Amino acid sequence: AWQAVRDTLRKSCGQRSFDGWLKALELAGLDSESGAVRLIAPSAFLAEWVQSHFAEQLAAAWHAALPGCGEILVEARGDAPVRAIFAIDAPAPDAVTPEPVVVEIDRGSQLEDRFTFDSFVVGKANELAYNAAKTLAEGGKLGFNPLFLHGGVGLGKTHLMHAIGHDYRARHPGSKVIYMTSEKFMYEFVAAMRAKDTHSFKARLRAADLLLIDDVQFIAGKDSTQEEFFHTMNELISAGRRLVISADRSPQDLEGIESRILSRLSWGLVADVNTADFELRYNIILKKLETQPAVVVPNDVVMFLAKRLTASIRELEGALTRVLAFAHLSKRPIDLEFTQAALADQLRASQRRVTIDEIQRRVCDHYRIRQSEMGSARRAREVARPRQIAMYLAKQLTQRSLPEIGRRFGGRDHTTVIHAVKRIEELRAADAELDADVRLLIRQLEA
Ligand code: ADP
Ligand code: MG
Repeated sequence: AWQAVRDTLRKSCGQRSFDGWLKALELAGLDSESGAVRLIAPSAFLAEWVQSHFAEQLAAAWHAALPGCGEILVEARGDAPVRAIFAIDAPAPDAVTPEPVVVEIDRGSQLEDRFTFDSFVVGKANELAYNAAKTLAEGGKLGFNPLFLHGGVGLGKTHLMHAIGHDYRARHPGSKVIYMTSEKFMYEFVAAMRAKDTHSFKARLRAADLLLIDDVQFIAGKDSTQEEFFHTMNELISAGRRLVISADRSPQDLEGIESRILSRLSWGLVADVNTADFELRYNIILKKLETQPAVVVPNDVVMFLAKRLTASIRELEGALTRVLAFAHLSKRPIDLEFTQAALADQLRASQRRVTIDEIQRRVCDHYRIRQSEMGSARRAREVARPRQIAMYLAKQLTQRSLPEIGRRFGGRDHTTVIHAVKRIEELRAADAELDADVRLLIRQLEA
């Protein structure tokens, strides 16, 4: 049915829209009871875009391929756990024109209320970035422009950018502040080009007093978008408007971004947001708890969380939220033992992150084949089966998306990965020896 749906969508939306937006959707599941269909988009942005532009076509295509199917859930895969972004009700069987339920969400460009300077905790890891952000928001004479913030996922870049936006707006009533991810910049620009109306897009951005572009790494390799981005930057800077840009890595490490953009960036102030140290993590937890005055969290629990959840602030926040929610639901006091139990899965996962490379090495060792076979085109059983097992393990043990896994196995298509996962699932049920192999590999990899 999925193939039929894709074919229908290609026709109803056009090949270009299909390639640009719908092709990346993956079928994650079909609930045989409710008939609900689950689709996964590679990012929240894309999920929302599909929702606001193609909900009707999706509902119609599914209904045609699978009469009586239930609602269609489009979820986003991100660094956060997969979550439902929106649901489209399938059209009623006798409905002539489908009228999907569409909920407007626009996370790509709104300032989030809770991301302010007040709620941002300063420590060694983010001091420079914070001070620069404050200075820029105050609006006095600037010794730098643009401000470029970089650092790993979940360390507070987006929070700081929104905080700049709020603060600048409050200090300069009537000013025009625009926040958007570079992904949104790209989609809007491409849509404007298709509609042969780039004028209003350009005019809108160039009218900004403060422009904040988040996650610029997304436009790597996108030439026409970069061209437009470069001109936008130049015009804003020469008009004395403020510009803040973020990325998940430093300018030197941004591959696929034009050098003239990079050199423009390095004219400004480049500030990194580092992984938080214990003290900062501890203070962030205390800060979050201030907003929950009714909840009692003993100090040893705060210490424990700050000590164990080191990867990112997002992870730390997620863990805290989970503990608070569990305590609320189970009406139990929060102590160390309760916290450990509530976070058992997460603590295990944060202890070790298995990489695709390790999986490939282990599997090749186990089956005594060369690691180059993981990406080779050979289909002989003795290499094809281990390759499928490695793909299966990559899907089970890492957070990598199907297309990404495919790429790491010699540039295979994501459907090949889906096929491998299914095949190994079947074999594990049918073949005790293979199942034992897979178990052993999982144990070794998770050790
Ligand atoms: P990034 O954009 O770098 O991936 P975010 O800005 O989305 O990260 O931050 C992830 C989460 O962690 C957000 O909920 C944010 O509020 C929180 N956070 C990050 N740094 C801090 C900090 N210094 N103080 C308070 N909260 C923070
Ligand atoms: Mg961010």
